[in-house]
Amino acid sequence: MSIAADINNTLPNVPVLACPSCHRLGIDFQFVGDFQTKIGYMAIWCPFCLHGIHISRVRIPEKTQALPFNTSAEEISRRIPNFTHVKPDG
Ligand SMILES: [Zn+2]
Repeated sequence: MSIAADINNTLPNVPVLACPSCHRLGIDFQFVGDFQTKIGYMAIWCPFCLHGIHISRVRIPEKTQALPFNTSAEEISRRIPNFTHVKPDG
């Protein structure tokens, strides 16, 4: 969860974050949500080891490029890889 906090606290200039699983730099993330209610979900993943987390019902920050909920699954899968879900920070 600390990565999620780091991202939210530093938008729109999120620093390069290290993956808690493989320790490589380059955590990626994407918000997907409803632009009216500003509620959606956030996916955070490591493009190297493909571990990540999915956080539902988050507020979509103003300063990010979010995808709308009606984005096709195909398009979302082009942006968000099919990663292995890990438990938030232990
Ligand atoms: Zn990793």
